[in-house]
Formats: sequence, C-alpha cells, structure tokens
Amino acid sequence: MKSLVVLGAGTAGTMVVNKLRSRLARDEWRITVVDQDDWHLYQPGLLLLPFGAERPEDLLRHRSDFVPPGVGRVQARIDRIDTAERTVLLEDGRAVPYDQLVIATGSQTRPDQTPGMLGDHWHRDVFDFYTLEGAMALRDRLADWPGGRLVVHIVDLPIKCPVAPLEFTFLADAFFEERGRRADVDITFVTPLDGAFTKPIASAHLGGMLRDRGISVEPDFYVDHVDGPARKLVSVDDREVAYDLLVTVPLNMGADCIARSGMGDELNFVPTDKHTLLAVGYDDVWVLGDASNIPASKAGSVAHFSAEVFVENFLEHISGRPMTHAFDGHANCFIESGHGKGLLIDFNYDTEPLPGRYPVPLVGPFTLLEESHANHWGKLGFRWAYWHLLLKGRPMPVPTLMSMTGKKKEVAS
Ligand SMILES: Cc1cc2nc3c(=O)[nH]c(=O)nc-3n(C[C@H](O)[C@H](O)[C@H](O)COP(=O)(O)OP(=O)(O)OC[C@H]3O[C@@H](n4cnc5c(N)ncnc54)[C@H](O)[C@@H]3O)c2cc1C
Repeated sequence: MKSLVVLGAGTAGTMVVNKLRSRLARDEWRITVVDQDDWHLYQPGLLLLPFGAERPEDLLRHRSDFVPPGVGRVQARIDRIDTAERTVLLEDGRAVPYDQLVIATGSQTRPDQTPGMLGDHWHRDVFDFYTLEGAMALRDRLADWPGGRLVVHIVDLPIKCPVAPLEFTFLADAFFEERGRRADVDITFVTPLDGAFTKPIASAHLGGMLRDRGISVEPDFYVDHVDGPARKLVSVDDREVAYDLLVTVPLNMGADCIARSGMGDELNFVPTDKHTLLAVGYDDVWVLGDASNIPASKAGSVAHFSAEVFVENFLEHISGRPMTHAFDGHANCFIESGHGKGLLIDFNYDTEPLPGRYPVPLVGPFTLLEESHANHWGKLGFRWAYWHLLLKGRPMPVPTLMSMTGKKKEVAS
C-alpha cells in the first residue's frame, strides 16, 4: 500500500483529493489530507462582506463535508516536513509517512511584518479584508464611518487575488455614491506597482477606471512603516500618505511550516516547476495553489487549472511514464467594478489579459476587460460553482489551458 498525503484542505487540497480518489486504486493508494481546522472559508466572499453584501455564515462550510469517502482526514497543525524521511511531523507529536506529498498550505496575511501596522489602531482605523475577522470589523466600521481620507493599500506582491484591492476600491466608490456620501470621501489607491495592475494593457484600462471615478493613485510606494498615532503611511523613500481609514493588504507569506522545513523562499513560498508542479529538486513532492512560487496569480482559478494538469502528470509519474502535461499559468478573474457590474480577465504566463469575449456554454459569453452586468452575475454565481462543482472535483465548463477564442489579438501588438 502506498501513501499520498495532501497538506491543506483549502481550495487546492480539497479539489485534489476529490479528483484523485476516483483515479487511484483503493487497494494500492491510501490518501490522507491534513488541515488545522474544520472550517472552509469561501475567500472571494470577503470582498463583498465589508459592504454588507455577504453574510459570514454563507461563506463557511465544514471541510469534512467535502472530503470524499476513502480519504483519511487528520485535523492537526503541521510542524514540518522531513523530506529525507518522507514524513510529515505534526505539532501534536504524530508523524504521517508518505510516498508522494502534495503541499497546498496556501498563503496567509502577515500584518506583523510591517512595523507599526499592528497596535491599538488595528481593526479600529487600520483594517484588512483578507481575513474573516478583518472583513467583519471593516463592515462594522464602514457602516457608521463619517467620511474622510480612505486609503486602500498593498504592502507588496505577490498577494492572493491581485485584483481584490482594486475591486475593493471600485466597490467603496460605489458604496459611498449610492449612499449620497461620495463627496465626503477622498479615495487613494497606494501600490508598490507603477500602475493599477501588473500587466500593461489591463493596468492602463483599470487605471483609467480609477481616474474616471476620481480616485488618486500613489504608485511605486514601498511602505516602511505605519505611523498609527499620526495616521499616515510612510514609504522607504520618505513619502507620506495620510489616512482616516486605512484598508491594507498586508504582506502575503507561505505557511510557517514551510520555513521550518527549509523548503521555502524568503516569503515561505515553495520553489516549484511552473509546468509540471513538482517542487524543484524533488520527484515526490508537488505544490499546488498559493503555496508555490510559480509566476501565476495566486487565485482559486489557478489552483483549479493547475490541479487538472497536476492530476494527469501525477498519474503518469507514479506509473513510471514521462509527464506529458504542462501548466501554462492560466488564470481568470472576475473584477467587481461597482453598481452591479464587473469585468473579466483571462490570461496565462505568456499572454496578458486582452479585450474580447470569453465563451462559456449556457451562461456566456462574458466581456473581457469591459464592464457588464453579466460579469457581476458571473462573479456571484461562482460561489455556487465553488461549493458544488469545483471543490468536489467535478468538471467545470471552462478550458484548463488558456484559449485565444474570442480574444482580440491585435491589441497585444
Ligand atoms: C479577499 C479575497 C478575494 C479572492 N477572490 C478570488 C476570486 O475572485 N477568484 C479567485 O480565483 N480567487 C480569489 N481569491 C484567492 C483564492 O481564495 C485563493 O487563491 C485560493 O483559496 C488558494 O487555495 P489554496 O488551496 O492554495 O489555499 P487555501 O484555500 O488558503 O488553503 C490552505 C489551507 O492550508 C491550511 N494550513 C496552512 N498552514 C497549515 C498548518 N501549519 N497546519 C495545518 N494546516 C495548514 C489552512 O488551514 C488552509 O485550509 C481571493 C482571496 C481573497 C483573500
């Protein structure tokens, strides 16, 4: 009997155990998934929660409900991986041996990494929305905030869902406008990038949308510290941005257990082959989702598309055949833009987001890099698809690798 151990029962880990249980013979492979708790959070819902458009209870499900029969579940914190002994050591002292290992421990926000970010002002006038506690505290603050300088801020990249801070900014603009209070709020978007987004065509488009909404952008801003008492962000080159309400995306880092295992880069992300998804230097350790350092977005869509490629490669690899599948970095993300509209972007390692149409049977096409009501409904509908199709490893009506169908190629030149 061989053992496959999956670390993390989040988006990637849950999908993978569902996909592989039906593909691996039960008398040959034991599958075990390890996670520290039994609450699966639908993270995209954290974007809407601060505006009262989602309820916390609708974003949580028991992880155990998504682990299929025939997969063992261990609830414990992972201490470290001993790759020489092919064993995962748990904080409660137990050891879980493996023949093949999948690391899917995700990424976490680390406000402790920016001097001055934590303190009395944390969740009083400095907030995050990447955690359930942060999003709920921000919801309560926004409900009675009298207005002033709202600063939306990214500490550094990579972050999960890199469009989420922009979406938050568009939604804040719409939130105050719909309440007749937009004139009382001055919104600034502060980013370490040189524009609104990482990719040039999308950056120009999204930057234009910020301008049209009267939102200032403070680019190339690398934060040195937060001065809580004076309510200002201070950059490494001594620029200052004053706020009354700061909504920040703290530094995102991989799990501490990766650092303790000596397997991470400086941000605890695991160096990973961007096509095969094997951890660099290993032939028995794979990395999926946000835990890897592949140059793709840290997004549920990337976890999904890469998991499809991984499953085929994994089955070939364990039967001694060459791996014939290569992940292309495919990502797609709906971008909420406020007032019931949204955009869609679809891209991969080599092709940046382009305008055009994105066909999806029955519900599409969706407009690429162009606002539409359909995109907003697509984003809302994704929650249903996440719980009922994606996590359970069922087929989704979208291609695994990026397709050029519907895209306007001439804009790329
Ligand atoms: C505000 C927000 C909006 C988003 N919107 C979108 C969107 O619209 N579209 C999209 O595609 N993606 C979106 N994402 C990103 C998406 O949610 C993540 O990319 C995705 O969930 C990553 O999956 P994962 O399996 O890698 O990590 P996770 O789902 O985070 O799972 C990691 C798991 O590892 C476990 N773990 C970690 N360390 C340990 C340890 N030491 N011991 C035991 N267990 C451990 C955790 O408990 C967790 O269950 C959004 C994210 C946020 C925060």
